[in-house]
Amino acid sequence: MRAFLIGRWQPFHKGHLEIIKKISAEVDEIIVGIGSCQKSHTLTDPFTAGERMMMITKTLENYDINYYAIPIIDIDYNAVWVSSVESLTPPFTTIYTGNSLVRELFSERNYVVKKPELYNRTDYSGTKIRKKMLDGSAWEHLVPEEVVKVIEEIDGINRIRRLSEKDYDEE
Ligand code: NAP
Repeated sequence: MRAFLIGRWQPFHKGHLEIIKKISAEVDEIIVGIGSCQKSHTLTDPFTAGERMMMITKTLENYDINYYAIPIIDIDYNAVWVSSVESLTPPFTTIYTGNSLVRELFSERNYVVKKPELYNRTDYSGTKIRKKMLDGSAWEHLVPEEVVKVIEEIDGINRIRRLSEKDYDEE
């Protein structure tokens, strides 16, 4: 059985890794959708699809998990988004998501929709990790070590800090 798991992975953290490990025990292959692939260089979506792809593939190299990582573009047309996903991915029967809109759109198309169990949500949250990156708190222990290396390679922390600087008209 092949299943689809969609997220933005901004950044890919240890909670995401635990979800993938758990799902991999239930299915033969996982399609990891890199959601909002067109977004990057903002405080909520700082990393590009390629950078997120590196975070995922370099981490999952260490595990015996059958997966495909596929960038998924947003379209401002919810009624056709499932068709857009289908045009980009291998076929699948089951989707894992905690997002109510995604659940609704795939249920209406008769997919089996499951909600993955979240792992230590208090610490492992993309929003909280991005905030720590910005304010200088320790964040490295919350992501796999390969993700730390990717963020260092792309100078990601300085990118986030530069993005947070005020523009002239805000000063
Ligand atoms: P998301 O917008 O990336 O995440 C929303 C929140 O849910 C985040 O706080 C996220 O935490 C959290 N979360 C992640 N995995 C979860 C889970 N298994 N259960 C409960 N909460 C979870 O949403 P997403 O569901 O992960 O990704 C949906 C993607 O589909 C987005 O890229 C969205 O734009 C796209 N989409 C597009 C369309 C369209 O284009 N028309 C329609 C629907 C959805 P973390 O930050 O820690 O991951």
